[in-house]
Amino acid sequence: MSNETTRARIALVTGGNRGIGLATALRLRESGLTVIAATRSGEAPEGLEAVRLDVSSPESIDAGFADVEARFGTVDVLVANAGITRDGLLMRMPDEDIDVVLQTNLAGSIRLARRALRGMLKARSGRIVFVSSVVWAAGSAGQVNYAASKAGLVGAARSLAREVGSRGITVNVVAPGFVETDMTAELGEDRRGEILKGIPLGRYAQPAEIAQVVDFLASAAYVTGAVIPVDGGLGMGH
Ligand code: NAP
Repeated sequence: MSNETTRARIALVTGGNRGIGLATALRLRESGLTVIAATRSGEAPEGLEAVRLDVSSPESIDAGFADVEARFGTVDVLVANAGITRDGLLMRMPDEDIDVVLQTNLAGSIRLARRALRGMLKARSGRIVFVSSVVWAAGSAGQVNYAASKAGLVGAARSLAREVGSRGITVNVVAPGFVETDMTAELGEDRRGEILKGIPLGRYAQPAEIAQVVDFLASAAYVTGAVIPVDGGLGMGH
């Protein structure tokens, strides 16, 4: 067998330095993949390989991928996880908060997928996973920018799934509910209590519970264009 057929699959996880991204990177590594954490600082967390990559910059995406391809080879699994919030009521939302959220969460993920396809199309296989959110369908007051970016990922994934399915590439979405990370640590106790009431499982998720589903999608060959809720039932029916 050639090296090409025996090498471990390569996974690139954006925002792999903390929260859901770090948990996903560690989980994929446990599953035997070579994992590269794409981070803004370029620093490698917890013994993982790393590449400097800012998803809001097209140049940085290109340079990051070129670096990974030169050091490791084609990216087999892309997890577009990096994301931000800039919450506030729309009436008072500055342009900057609309732009930066759409640019980072939506345009960044689409550009990452486009760049990943170069190698995946040649290899005639690949797995792309977008990390969306339960709010993509349910909506969330104070998160018009964020919910729009997360809903956009679903349209993007399903369109791309149709474009590249015949090449053995799957494109799926994971839609987490509320997960214990820095992102939700910002919420006040009242808001946390309110949210908890709507979660049938009665608790927030741990990052590893989202990672488990991303790991499944990284190996599943006959699932594409799917949106998988990982939300303790919060978004049921949407
Ligand atoms: P987090 O703890 O706030 O971490 C966000 C990650 O994204 C960090 O690694 C951050 O890097 C990275 N990031 C932000 N902007 C970036 C950029 N321009 N370029 C590269 N990396 C960037 O968030 P999290 O809770 O793990 O969320 C991860 C994903 O899950 C996000 O897409 C989020 O929208 C989604 N999600 C989270 C929840 C939740 O309850 N936590 C629920 C649904 C969906 P730095 O360390 O450099 O800032």
